[in-house]
Amino acid sequence: MNKRKIITACLAFAMAFIMGFGLIHPLVASANAQSDFNDAQQKLDEINKEISSLRTKKSKQQAEKKNAQTQINLVKTQISALNKEIEEANVQLAEKQRQLEQKKADILWTDELFKERLKAMYIMRSGGTLSTVLAVDSFSELLTATDTLQRISVADTQLLKYMDDEKKAIEAEEAAIQEELNALVEKQGTLENKQAELAGYMQKLDSQLSETAAKEKAAQETQTEVYARYQAAKAALEAELANQNSSGDYVGGEWIWPVPSNGHISSPFGWRTLYGVADNHIGIDISTGSGTWIYNKPIVASNSGVVTKAVYGTTGYGRYVVIDHGGNNLTLYGHCNSLAVNVGDYVQQGQIIAYVGSTGNSTGPHLHFEIRLNGTPVDPAPLVASTRP
Ligand SMILES: [Zn+2]
Repeated sequence: MNKRKIITACLAFAMAFIMGFGLIHPLVASANAQSDFNDAQQKLDEINKEISSLRTKKSKQQAEKKNAQTQINLVKTQISALNKEIEEANVQLAEKQRQLEQKKADILWTDELFKERLKAMYIMRSGGTLSTVLAVDSFSELLTATDTLQRISVADTQLLKYMDDEKKAIEAEEAAIQEELNALVEKQGTLENKQAELAGYMQKLDSQLSETAAKEKAAQETQTEVYARYQAAKAALEAELANQNSSGDYVGGEWIWPVPSNGHISSPFGWRTLYGVADNHIGIDISTGSGTWIYNKPIVASNSGVVTKAVYGTTGYGRYVVIDHGGNNLTLYGHCNSLAVNVGDYVQQGQIIAYVGSTGNSTGPHLHFEIRLNGTPVDPAPLVASTRP
């Protein structure tokens, strides 16, 4: 046999050994199933936390947006009221300007008249021209006319002064309205700036919110994947626990309630909501406390049999015991605080096998109890009802 043939033979033997080992020792896969489940559960916890934090963030951003919208509405109302005031001020201003123009025209007209009269008076005082003299019938009439003209001139002067005062008063009013208008326009500018600023802020909030929503959507997609993986890992683990080779025939007899001190079922067998999604609960949870958690209540074997698992886990079932009752009928006791038996021990029905705890995937001290008849999990409640405290 040459060197090459020896190597080939060795490899063939190694391959046969590995394949054979895999086939005849299903327990090799056990560690994988448990660690797959642990890993999936951890990932599920993480993604659930992330989604929860994203939802909190989203609510906060929505509240901010609502607040900004309220502010924008307020500014809009203020601007609208201001526009009305500006419109009114403009009407008033136009009216004042119209009055002022009218007054100016009146003054001009009166002034022209006054000048004409002054001219006439001047002509008469200085002896007048022939036409002026001829314009009156007699000398006495001329004197009277002169006298009248003098009186008229005084009245005209007074009238002009009065009109000028009126004009000044209108001008003052106009200036006051203009000032008010300027103030309103300035205020309008400030508000418009504020509105633009708020609109920018709103845009920023909108983009932040859509960013969070996109993240949430992605996280939800991840959650769906992770949850499917979790369910598969859980099913694989449960199936593996069920597929243990049972030794001997079923011991028979009645099953008994496993926690003699407590009779409260905190979560029944069957479908329930876990992590916000449907989950099949393949056992019952028996709690030992409410408000104050009570640990270390004894757990007893529901029936006689051989301990096939006494696991000190930190996830999933935590610390748990599996008893084989023969005929592929098993019981499982999960989340224990401490175990009182070892693998291979034969236990009598009613014998203490562990103490209630909250190890693994648990939120408070309770026993997760399963009965598997011929490998299939069934609702233990009716089977142990007669001994329930
Ligand atoms: Zn449970």
